[in-house]
Amino acid sequence: MFSGIMEINQELNQAYVQEHPNIRIALVGNPNVGKSTVFNALTGMHQHTGNWPGKTVALASGTYVYGDQLHEMIDLPGTYSLLAHSREEQVTSDFICFEQCECCVVVCDSTCLQRNLNLVLQTLEITDRVVVVANLCDEAKKKQIEIDQKRLSEQLGSEVVMMSARSKQGLEELKEAIARCCAQSHQRKQVVIRYREELEEAISAICEVMGHSQIDHRFAAIKLLEGDMRFLEYVEHPRQCEEVIKKQKEYLRDLGIYDHLEDELAAAIAKRSAQISDACVTLKQANYYERDRRIDRIVTHKVWGLLLMLALLTLIFWITISGANIPSELLAKGFSLLEEQLNQWLLMLGVHEWLRALMMDGIYKTLTWVVAVMLPPMAIFFPLFTILEDFGYLPRIAFNLDGFFRKAKACGKQALTMSMGFGCNAVGVSGARIIDSPRERLIAILTNNFVPCNGRFPTLIAIITMFFAGMLAAPWNSFVSTLLLTATIVLGVLLTFWVSRLLSCTLLKGVPSGFTLELPPYRRPQFGKVIIRSIFDRTLFVLGRAISVAIPAGALLWLLANITVDGVTLLTMISSFLDPFARQLGLDGVILLAFILGFPANEIVVPIIIMTYLSSTHMLELNDLTLMKELLVANGWTWVTAICTMLFSLIHFPCATTLLTIRKETGSRKWTLVAFLLPTFIGMLVCFLVSHIALLWM
Ligand code: GDP
Repeated sequence: MFSGIMEINQELNQAYVQEHPNIRIALVGNPNVGKSTVFNALTGMHQHTGNWPGKTVALASGTYVYGDQLHEMIDLPGTYSLLAHSREEQVTSDFICFEQCECCVVVCDSTCLQRNLNLVLQTLEITDRVVVVANLCDEAKKKQIEIDQKRLSEQLGSEVVMMSARSKQGLEELKEAIARCCAQSHQRKQVVIRYREELEEAISAICEVMGHSQIDHRFAAIKLLEGDMRFLEYVEHPRQCEEVIKKQKEYLRDLGIYDHLEDELAAAIAKRSAQISDACVTLKQANYYERDRRIDRIVTHKVWGLLLMLALLTLIFWITISGANIPSELLAKGFSLLEEQLNQWLLMLGVHEWLRALMMDGIYKTLTWVVAVMLPPMAIFFPLFTILEDFGYLPRIAFNLDGFFRKAKACGKQALTMSMGFGCNAVGVSGARIIDSPRERLIAILTNNFVPCNGRFPTLIAIITMFFAGMLAAPWNSFVSTLLLTATIVLGVLLTFWVSRLLSCTLLKGVPSGFTLELPPYRRPQFGKVIIRSIFDRTLFVLGRAISVAIPAGALLWLLANITVDGVTLLTMISSFLDPFARQLGLDGVILLAFILGFPANEIVVPIIIMTYLSSTHMLELNDLTLMKELLVANGWTWVTAICTMLFSLIHFPCATTLLTIRKETGSRKWTLVAFLLPTFIGMLVCFLVSHIALLWM
């Protein structure tokens, strides 16, 4: 019945859209100005993410109906400028130039309008169909910042809407302004930026020979002067145009302007932003961000800042570990009760024994391990992490670690991609797009795997609890677990620095680039939204991925454990084959096999180890850590095995999803291979050294 309704809905939608053609609106803005909030407020649930032709960046688009027309809004990547240095800038400026949108909405932060005006002015250089949103008006009001809306609108020659997107204030005005902007005839009303005279002359000369062009003459002329020859395709007389460009370039070069063209353009834009801001913004309380500065004095302090970071990380892990214990146990109990029930039902239904065993001992056990062990820590960790993000703390981490990354000849922004890696390395890898320099981006991509993702936490926590903290009484056990987990993470971060440095001195030689990192104002996190966002966007997403891998992996494992050749299971055969090599690394064949089979997702490494040791019997409760430790010890585990397994879990090849993302982001098989081999080799080396040194003591 549902599919019937959906089909009818789709047909109605299609008919509607055919009758009322799409109006396309681009949404741009600096990062952290409330662009997504505006996007969500306008489009609600009507969103989807798509790859635009020729672009590798996924853009979200959504629709809303206003009047009798369907408006399609495309959320472009957050960016500070359109100078096209980074991929975000390229995608955004190309989209506005070439994708023919009826209107471009630029979202600004009213509390720091001047800086945001740079992007507004650059957008106005490309198109005059602009609506400016002065968002965060509630915050501006609190800080006693007044903006003269009418004057700003006059100065920019475009409509300005005052908004507080979080409380949906100004939403209707924005819809009206967009509709008016789309309806207006396409004619440039005024030139907003004036460059120095010689440059203006060159621009005019090029504009004159362009003839008819689909895109803005002035902007195309500037881009052509900069050397972006794609714009020739859009002019009527490309030949003549090319000649004039050549001449003008020479002229500007002789004057010594051409070599600093970009600085000239940026300086003119910044000057105009300052002028407009001076004319339209009144600061009633000059030291309005004094509170933020005071907090930053501690948070970004050379010593206190680092200590605070470490303390916060430890606190998050402590809350995660101690908070996850009880729900994990409850889930495990629930699953084992359900298991008995399901087994009885399957017996009653007369299901064949091998099918029952495949479903219950293979798939069900692996699946419930993943859910019981992963879900509670993730449901705690992700919201905590998102609260810090929402509060504005992550850019401070980048600021604090900038010096270390600089010493490693990498980019401070790598701290942000590294933080994202805690959630999921694939997310960290795609997050590396925020780094402009290709060399530094590659370093960030290749080293992201050294911070353990959420899929690896359960392995680390389980081993720490079994071998190092389990014998202690509460609350000391979770305290010691937390400290050991934090130490493991710190080791991962140190490795990131060392390997980044190593790459900078060998394969990826170069000088670190400078970058301006904005420290956004601290904001009170929206707890409700944070929890919903982190549960739905992150927790369930990662869990869903783990489950989809656990089901086939559980089945495969059971088959390997039950298919025998000459009385020996396939699992035993493969692990025996790997055993001599694995022993050199302080592991054994089963552990190494588990890491190999866990390639699709790291979450399933521990269940594979347990299942393999149990391949002759299935008596053990997979979720009881005391019984599990007995099983591991009976199979030859010592504290050295535990340490080496933790180290190898921290330092080994990225999972399949991360590698696919690396392939997509770098577009290179070679670098994907390096991303695979580099951590694997280092991990093996570290495990080899640790196990052999430890053996000397034993
Ligand atoms: P984006 O990075 O530009 O997409 O910004 P987001 O939409 O993610 O918003 C960044 C932060 O600003 C979030 O914590 C929002 O809740 C908050 N925010 C967005 N709009 C407003 C607003 O109008 N007023 C206030 N006080 N906060 C806002």
